[in-house]
Formats: sequence, C-alpha cells, structure tokens
Amino acid sequence: MTVKTFTFNPIQENTYVVHDETGEAIVIDAGCFYENEKQLLKSYIDDNGLKLKRVINTHLHFDHQFGNKFMFDTYGILPEAHREDEFLLKGVVAKAMILGFPIQEDAQPLGSYIEEHQEIKFGNICLRSIHVPGHCPGHLVFYAEKEKVLFAGDVLFRGSIGRTDLERGDYAALIKNITDKLLILPEETVVYPGHGPATTIGAEKKSNPYL
Ligand SMILES: [Zn+2]
Ligand SMILES: [Zn+2]
Repeated sequence: MTVKTFTFNPIQENTYVVHDETGEAIVIDAGCFYENEKQLLKSYIDDNGLKLKRVINTHLHFDHQFGNKFMFDTYGILPEAHREDEFLLKGVVAKAMILGFPIQEDAQPLGSYIEEHQEIKFGNICLRSIHVPGHCPGHLVFYAEKEKVLFAGDVLFRGSIGRTDLERGDYAALIKNITDKLLILPEETVVYPGHGPATTIGAEKKSNPYL
C-alpha cells in the first residue's frame, strides 16, 4: 500500500492518496485550496496512472473538504462522509469568511454516507471505518487492518488530540472514543493524522500528554 501525503491550504491540512500495485486509488480529505495545490494532486493521480475510485472524508470541517468540488469536476466522483457531519457543509462560505478564507462557492454536497464499520475496498486494500465523535459528531477514522495503518483525521495527532471547542465538539466523548476505539489497535499501527507528522498508536499511548 502506498500512502502519498500532501499538505494543503493555509491550515496545513494533510490530504492522502492511497493506492496499491493495481493502480486503484482513493483520496482521503481532499483539502486542496489553491490552484497549484489542485494541479499537484491531479498530476500525482494522472502521472502515476491511478484509477481514482472514491473521495472520502474523515470529517467535514472546511479545511478537509475544500477540494471536493474540484475532485467532482475533474473525476466525476462525489465525496462520502458520515451523515452526522453533513450540517458542517451548510453556510461554509460565511464560516470560512469569518476565518479569513475567501471561498467563492458553496461546499460540494455528498454523494453518499459512510456508516461505522463500513468496508471501503479498492485494489487489494480494505479500509474499515470507525466512528470517533468528539472533535465533531460525524468524525470517522479509516483503519487498514492488514497493513496496520490508521487515517485519523483530527482525532489523534502526534503528541496531541483534536480540539473540541468547535461546533458540537465534546471533550469527554473524544477521550472516551480514542481510549475505547483507537488505543486498542496494535501498537505498531502507523497513524496518519489530519495535521502534522505521522505517529504510531504505541508512541501516543506512551507519551501523548492528553491521554
Ligand atoms: Zn477538523
Ligand atoms: Zn483539520
């Protein structure tokens, strides 16, 4: 399994392209914002001859879905996310404006929902979705059991956890969900977060000051 990391937009969000030797690929959290970022993502997919199958979101904070419209316009693939985060797509232009982002267009609506424990299969890869609310109500993480890789969005970072002071955040739920659903994974599991460098479950269990 190949994981390509792009860090996009002024919030330094990580966008991941995941694929294997079959060439089938998915994009997790298309956060490309500037034109050159969009072209960088497209070039990676096209130059490697990847067949893009799905565009999935860990959650729908705007920095993680800036690029969903571009992905739909370019590849005809609609984004997928958890139903309970759909409210975040409403009024995104106004919300982004408050934070200094001049977005021109409304957010790209979802094509379908991802439930908890759904299997996302492409090539020889299978990701399982795990619902981890707390940072926002519909936050999913995606776990590749065979490869021991976790795409953690804004739930778990190297040395930190997701903020809970945004709309419908819940600190107690976040801590409980990380403990019950993520820290039980094998310690060697590589964690690719929504911001910052990769880490492992073992490293965070040992030294994350919030857990
Ligand atoms: Zn977020
Ligand atoms: Zn984020």
